[in-house]
Amino acid sequence: MKKIFVVGIGPGEAAYMTPAAGAAIAESDVVVGYTLYVELVRDLCAGKLVESTPMKKETDRCRIALEHARKGRTVAFVCSGDAGVYGMAGVMCEVAENDPDIEIITVPGITAACSGAAVLGAPLIHDFAVISLSDLLTPWETIEKRLLLAAEADFVICLYNPKSMKRRDHLDRAVEYIAKSRSWETPCGYVKNIGREGEYSRLCTLRELKDNEDIDMFTTVFVGNSGTRVINGRLVTPRGYQI
Ligand code: SAH
Repeated sequence: MKKIFVVGIGPGEAAYMTPAAGAAIAESDVVVGYTLYVELVRDLCAGKLVESTPMKKETDRCRIALEHARKGRTVAFVCSGDAGVYGMAGVMCEVAENDPDIEIITVPGITAACSGAAVLGAPLIHDFAVISLSDLLTPWETIEKRLLLAAEADFVICLYNPKSMKRRDHLDRAVEYIAKSRSWETPCGYVKNIGREGEYSRLCTLRELKDNEDIDMFTTVFVGNSGTRVINGRLVTPRGYQI
């Protein structure tokens, strides 16, 4: 059967990529992906055809992968983090809907919520919500509603795509919505370039997430719930055990 692996390569560093992801790339004839992600696995691409395309060409990239698979080549489509968390696993299935003879195999990876949480401590130890602030594919009103309700329900909130060059104020607006039902002093944290050169993390309060020039599109943001606290420099959401 013809195969397309949609591979989550983890946050960046090779140590955080699963052996299964490495094996899928090794088995493939072609590696397809966004330029930056292909560079992260360049060492594994010797002797393979590499097709990298810039951002915003997601569906084109899926079609390129599909064309190669139709010709009988095994393809590894690489995504950062997990391929099924704001990744390409679903889009690949949609684009290949009329090619049931091509098997789409998702290879999971460590998503930024997990790798970032590990850098900060243990903020996601209880119920949490992951919300992307990108309104490229989701109406802002929907994002706003999710933020408001997740905050009201006291979920720990993990924010992906907190800012981009064009969307500088989304995080500030998100923080305002969250603050409607959470203290401005809530312990928060963010991690930039997880597992990549220039990794940087900081603990702060909800207030300090506002007008924060540090945070960019390569950052994942964590907002604690009403019980989250800082223990010896670690951001921790208590699990509820009596200590
Ligand atoms: N599939 C990816 C998410 C892609 S959406 C995953 O599972 O991790 C892109 C967003 O993910 C970024 O804006 C950022 O918020 C987060 N992200 C992905 N990789 C990251 C990294 N290495 N360091 C920090 N944040 C990261």
